Amino acid sequence: MKILLIVSTLIFALQIDAFSQKEIEYILTHSPENNKINITLNFKEIEAENVKLIIPRSGPGTYELTNYRAFVQKVTATTKLGNKLQATLGIGSYFEFTAKSNLISSISYSVDINKMEKELLSASSSSKKRDKYLGLLGYSVFGFIEGQEHLPINLTINTHTNWPIFSTISPSVERKNGSASFKASNYAELADAQYLLGEGVYISSVPNSPIPLYIVVYSETAYDIEEIGRRALLALNGLKTYYGFIPMPHYTLCYEFLTPISPRHDYGFSMEHLNSMTASFDTKHAVTAYEEHPNIGSTIHHIGHSWIPLRSYGKGYRPFEWQTAPLIETIWLNEGFTWYVAYYYVLNNKGIINRFNKIVSTAPEYINKKSLRKLSLLGSSQYAADFRIGKNLFARGALLAYELDKKIIKQSNGSKSFKDAVIALMGFTKKNNRAFEYEEIEQIITKAVGIDISDIWVKWQEPILKH
Ligand SMILES: [Zn+2]
Repeated sequence: MKILLIVSTLIFALQIDAFSQKEIEYILTHSPENNKINITLNFKEIEAENVKLIIPRSGPGTYELTNYRAFVQKVTATTKLGNKLQATLGIGSYFEFTAKSNLISSISYSVDINKMEKELLSASSSSKKRDKYLGLLGYSVFGFIEGQEHLPINLTINTHTNWPIFSTISPSVERKNGSASFKASNYAELADAQYLLGEGVYISSVPNSPIPLYIVVYSETAYDIEEIGRRALLALNGLKTYYGFIPMPHYTLCYEFLTPISPRHDYGFSMEHLNSMTASFDTKHAVTAYEEHPNIGSTIHHIGHSWIPLRSYGKGYRPFEWQTAPLIETIWLNEGFTWYVAYYYVLNNKGIINRFNKIVSTAPEYINKKSLRKLSLLGSSQYAADFRIGKNLFARGALLAYELDKKIIKQSNGSKSFKDAVIALMGFTKKNNRAFEYEEIEQIITKAVGIDISDIWVKWQEPILKH
C-alpha cells in the first residue's frame, strides 16, 4: 500500500509538473542601430546549478562543427527573488551557473551578429546584420536548456516599429511590423527556421504553385524576384512530377545577394531546412533576368532534401544532438539519393553518372580505402573541410542509387523503380516516427521493390579499393 501511495503521488507530481511546464517563452529583441540581438528564455523555475544553457555547434545537414558559443555574451539568469546570476563557460558548448540554492526562471544573453559574420568564413553558416536587414538562422542564435528541447515554444520578436518580421515557421506576405509571435512545437523546429527582419526584405508569393511558395530576398544589387520565383516553381514542380506528391505544407526560398565582406569569405552555398532553404550568394551571382534554361540543379537539390533526408533519415540526423556534430552513417543516402533524383530525373541529365564516376575514380587513397559507412562518419563533421569527402559521399550514394534503379526497373519489367525505394524509406520514417537503423535500409528497400538487391548493396558498402 505504502509503495502504491508513493507511486501514485509521484505520478500526480509528474502530471502537475507537465501541466505547469507547458511551454518555454523566447523573446528576441533587436534594434536596427545595434549589432547585437538579445534573447530571453522564460521557463518554470529550476535550480540554477542544474541548468546548462546549450548553444548549438551544428545543425542537421551542415556536417560541420561551428562554434556559435563564441558569439554569445552576457549570459545572465534571474532568480525568483529578482537577483541576477552571471553564467560561466562550461566544458562543452554550454553556459552554466555555479551559485547554489537559487531557483531561476529566466535566462538572458546577447549574440553579436557582426562578429559571427566576420569570424565564420562560410556565408551560409552565419546570420547577418545590415542596414535595414537582419537575417537569422535559428540554430545560430537560439540556445536551449539541456533536457527541455522537447517542450513547445512561444517566440516573440521585437524590433523597430517600422521593421516587418518574417519567419519560415509560418510564412506569409502579410508581415507584422515591430513585434510578432511564432509557435514552434519544440526546439528543433525553432532552430530549423529562419527569421528575416527589416525594410530591406522583399517577399513574393509565387503564383500557380501547388503549395504556398514564397521567395524572400535581401539584396545589395539589382535582382528579379519573379524570375527567382519562376525557377523555384520549375524546381518544385519537377520534384512533384518525379515523386507524385509534395510532403511540405508550404515552402520558402530565402536569398541573400551580398557584397563579400572579405576575399576569404565563401559565398554560393545553400542550406536545406524542413520547409525552406537559404542561399547566400555574392552579388555577382544575383538572378537578374529571365533565362530560358537557367541552372536550377542546386535549387532542385535543396528543395529535394525536404523529401530526403528531412522526412526520411538514418540515425544521428534526427533527433539531432545540437551540442556536437553527431556521427551520421547515412550521409551518402541523404546527399547521393537527392543528387541522383535532382540531376538524373528532374533535370534529365543522364551524363551526370559520368561525373559521379569521375569523382570516385579520382579520389585520394585515404578516401577510397574507406567503406561507405566510415566515409560517412568522417563526413559527419568534415563534409566540406576537404570537399573531396563530401563529393565522394554524394557520388557513391548516387551511383548506388543508379545501379539499384537499373536493376529494379529491369527485374520488375518497369513496374518498380528506385523511386519506390525512396518512398518506402519515407513511409518507414512516417509510420515509426524514428530514424531507420543502418541494417534496416536494405530490408526496407528489398521489401518495397520485391527484388534481391544484396549484390549492389554489398558492393557499395565496401571501400572503392575493393571494387
Ligand atoms: Zn545536399
